[in-house]
Amino acid sequence: MSDVHLRQTLDAVPTYQAGKPAASGIAGQVGFKLSSNENPYPPLPSVLEQIRAAAASINRYPDASVGTLRTALSTFLDVPVEHIATGTGSVGILGQIVQATCDAGDEVVHAWRSFEAYPIVAGLAGARPVQVAVDDQGRHQLDKIGAAITDRTRVVLLCTPNNPTGPALCHEEVEAFLPQVPSDVLVVIDEAYVEFVNDPAAADGLALYRSHPNVVCLRTFSKAYGLAGLRVGYAIAHAPVAAALRKTAVTFGVNALAEVAAVASLKAHDELQDRVADLVSERSRVLHKLQAQGWTVPDAQGNFIWLPLGTASEAFTVAADQAGLSLRRFGDEGVRVTIAESAANDMVLDIARAFAHAQSDSGNQLSR
Ligand SMILES: *Cc1c(COP(=O)(O)O)cnc(C)c1O
Repeated sequence: MSDVHLRQTLDAVPTYQAGKPAASGIAGQVGFKLSSNENPYPPLPSVLEQIRAAAASINRYPDASVGTLRTALSTFLDVPVEHIATGTGSVGILGQIVQATCDAGDEVVHAWRSFEAYPIVAGLAGARPVQVAVDDQGRHQLDKIGAAITDRTRVVLLCTPNNPTGPALCHEEVEAFLPQVPSDVLVVIDEAYVEFVNDPAAADGLALYRSHPNVVCLRTFSKAYGLAGLRVGYAIAHAPVAAALRKTAVTFGVNALAEVAAVASLKAHDELQDRVADLVSERSRVLHKLQAQGWTVPDAQGNFIWLPLGTASEAFTVAADQAGLSLRRFGDEGVRVTIAESAANDMVLDIARAFAHAQSDSGNQLSR
């Protein structure tokens, strides 16, 4: 036993559960990892080439100001460069946000079930995560989130589209919600999946940031841009907030390979957008086929779908594992399935069909 003093607050902080790797599958069949909402496509050749070239200089520290990427983002998004802060993925930025805003005992309000990093980053700062249940469609209940704000609240996290349940927030409802939030509370619009959204009524985080000084918009290169392994994300916020987020960043956290890959990816935006469009069309194919099989599935605006399986979640995950598909189960709430290459999606549909038949044979309802 060690006597080393560790902060007691750590005892209450859950450990991040990473998605399982692809299962080996049944004989002769390839396995697929559909458990981390990753992009199934390998990096673009133009991006890889930049990474290779930059690798020759990794004896040097990266640019601490991440200036090339911030300048490129400033042009790409048409926002001042001072309004951009970068981090090691948007999980890194979330940590910077909580460090910049919360003292021990302060509160971070967010929907639940939502992104599992939220209670972790809040807890690490000694802040208290205040969780507000999503409704039976997996949607944020903004009225209840508003009612949960107290004088200890420093941050409200809105996840749109919501991971893992799928729906995006509606722009008008967020517009109506923001005036209820005290102006000294930071509202984070986490848009990790914004590139996959095709609901025209969905919240536009950039527009909300432009019109509200206490709104910060979070984006990442991990999902649509396929750079999950390099760890780079960014925040768009008004000058004082963005400066605080740069101050609380890990020094040299965004490395040179990540920076060149992100800049090259912005240049290859159109090519990447074609891949995103393929994934979005696969998403609607899977959604419609599941509905035809009798499943009740919430709207899906990210690169994943949510099966609200309740207590059948474990059995479904086991069936998928046996077929070589690694999915993400959240207790007895449901299972999140990443949309990937069509062969993997076809396997999901096969498993879902067999599972639905077995369930109806035993007289069970598919979803809660
Ligand atoms: C994946 C994800 C992120 C981003 O993760 P990083 O890889 O750290 O950029 C942020 N928010 C949500 C809701 C996510 O699902």
